[in-house]
Amino acid sequence: MNDTSSVTDAPVATTLEELAAQLPAGAMLTDPVKTEAYRRDRAEDPNAGVPAAVVRATSAEDVQAVVRYAAATGTPVVPRGAGTSLSGGSTAIDGGISLSLDRMREIRVDPVTRTVVTQPGAFNAEVKEAAAQHGLWYPPDPASFTFCSIGGNIATNAGGLCCVKYGVTTDYVLGMKVVLADGRLIELGGPRLKDVAGLSLTKLFVGSEGTLGIITEVTLRLVPAQRTPQTLVATFPTLDSATAAVLAITQSMRPSMLEFMDRPTINAVEDETKMGLDRDSAAMLIVQSDEPAEHAGVEIAEVTRICEENGCSEVFSTDDPDEGEAFIAARRIAIPAVEKKGTILLEDVGVPLPRLGALVSGIEAISQEFDVLVAVMAHAGDGNTHPLVVFDPTDQDQRDRAHAAYGRIMDLAVELGGTITGEHGVGRLKQPWLPDYLGSDVLEINQRVKDALDPQGILNPGVLLAQRDTSAAAPTTTPAAAAATTGAGAAVTAEPTTASATGETVSFAQPTITYDLAARAVALTIEEGAKAGVRTCATVVDPALQMVAYGRTDGMTPHSVETSRRKAQTAASTRRPSALIAPELSQKLEHGTGGLLTSIAGGVPIAFDGVVVGGLGVAGGKPAEDAVIADAVLAALGADPAEQAS
Ligand SMILES: Cc1cc2nc3c(=O)[nH]c(=O)nc-3n(C[C@H](O)[C@H](O)[C@H](O)COP(=O)(O)OP(=O)(O)OC[C@H]3O[C@@H](n4cnc5c(N)ncnc54)[C@H](O)[C@@H]3O)c2cc1C
Repeated sequence: MNDTSSVTDAPVATTLEELAAQLPAGAMLTDPVKTEAYRRDRAEDPNAGVPAAVVRATSAEDVQAVVRYAAATGTPVVPRGAGTSLSGGSTAIDGGISLSLDRMREIRVDPVTRTVVTQPGAFNAEVKEAAAQHGLWYPPDPASFTFCSIGGNIATNAGGLCCVKYGVTTDYVLGMKVVLADGRLIELGGPRLKDVAGLSLTKLFVGSEGTLGIITEVTLRLVPAQRTPQTLVATFPTLDSATAAVLAITQSMRPSMLEFMDRPTINAVEDETKMGLDRDSAAMLIVQSDEPAEHAGVEIAEVTRICEENGCSEVFSTDDPDEGEAFIAARRIAIPAVEKKGTILLEDVGVPLPRLGALVSGIEAISQEFDVLVAVMAHAGDGNTHPLVVFDPTDQDQRDRAHAAYGRIMDLAVELGGTITGEHGVGRLKQPWLPDYLGSDVLEINQRVKDALDPQGILNPGVLLAQRDTSAAAPTTTPAAAAATTGAGAAVTAEPTTASATGETVSFAQPTITYDLAARAVALTIEEGAKAGVRTCATVVDPALQMVAYGRTDGMTPHSVETSRRKAQTAASTRRPSALIAPELSQKLEHGTGGLLTSIAGGVPIAFDGVVVGGLGVAGGKPAEDAVIADAVLAALGADPAEQAS
């Protein structure tokens, strides 16, 4: 851990072979059999890319070598800790480098300053263990703490079970060393409890999901060891009574844990543990107090009273740490237990505490409406819920309903004044929802920060923010960048060709356009766009529902097709289209003869049956823009938009 804040003097590698030669023997993996394990994280994205190489860095210098190579060649870099992301943040990119920090795990505790300096690959549990040897404690405790890395925790600003009292990861980060997108290694903050010199850049990197820099070392604050907590478990006959109890508890005290599980979660956990949980309860709360012994007893007695007052069916408390730990372990295995019921889409929505009841009962209603199992567990004291939407991956209809429910839950949280992610991060999975959530001004500031620190867009592109065409900033042109810039802004003039997708053969007045009838998505890939001589973008339509759902920009990767499809399904299922389209167009699209409704970044003709119906800006998924597109289409068809919308 003797890094210096400089660009190394080593020559910049411009081929993978040259890069491998700069790294320790065996640090680079290119054999697809070996790189397979690094393609996915716990979000299990079916469209995970195939990396050109995996580098298992052993030092900050290794990281710098990789980033300098990436900057010179325009290669995407996906930083990776332990790969437990639930939002697809460490999913590999086709042709990119997955940069694993798992070998960098030195930990050094300084009991005098009550700090720990650790490399990013150390597990959270290893940092806790090192601190405990000095009678100290590192509080943030994601349920995955025994198998997730501290670097990943910082990059996602992870929360956890005790965060209701002790705060989340960012509250413990004092400093870090970061390799920037140009290969420079910088040092931010340090073992100082107070330091307000300059903008708070340390915090900027916390939660940046590997998109601004690669963390190679971090300085964390430690606190005195936690007192042995007392534990209470209460079951409730209704969701409302449980969430009312949560609100009453948080109004009167700060428990060191306040967790929630609903009936499907309780049953999944009981299936695994056979510990005798009440399968009929609508909900269960697990509460801890780590106040000094006598006061912990007072707090637990008060929680007991509140639970009873709110109509709990049963309440049980213990000061036996092993007994208490058994309930916490049950909560920790809740996600893996539900995962055994099918494929899951894991939500992470949060709301202000008074809206927790509305969120939880709204999720139950969504589960019924879409006829899919949704198991809810929550860091209830933080208003942060994890609804797990469960589906059978072989059942297309159920899969579609699950995706629709997933999107609808996010809409509900936002309607309730909440967030689309409380602790797992935006990743790739939630990226399509971020623009609407942030609004255009805040999104633009996010993008400007990204552009300032990573002008080429090589760091985890497509995570958090939509992938952009940054080819102008790239010193070296990649095939993809070249494709994306060819003839930017030109109108589509290509000859009719035929494309085949999902078994359907469809003709379009466009070259090699993929029209996936099953997904009801029109997609134009970067390569296809290059052939057509345009920068690419596609608008997703649902002809059956007569609507323009959402548009996406900057080239459709398989992943962005998938996310656009999900957004379309959400809009479809909630009957909340961004804008309506004319029945004539719907019919033509449904039958695959209607040509292509697409917008093209830059010059932006929108063609329908060979007729350009619009000259619009990028359709970036904004309802307002979609509405403009829809209006243009309607106008071209001679229909009255207002009449259609009504
Ligand atoms: C069963 C289970 C329970 C979970 N419970 C919780 C919970 O209670 N609370 C919670 O917050 N999360 C939870 N998670 C999610 C996950 O464990 C966290 O998001 C964790 O912080 C990810 O750490 P990781 O090392 O696995 O990171 P990865 O998955 O490898 O990466 C996550 C993100 O961080 C970036 N990244 C990783 N390392 C670095 C680095 N050194 N520099 C820059 N960027 C980097 C990656 O690019 C990616 O965007 C849970 C996951 C599972 C599977």
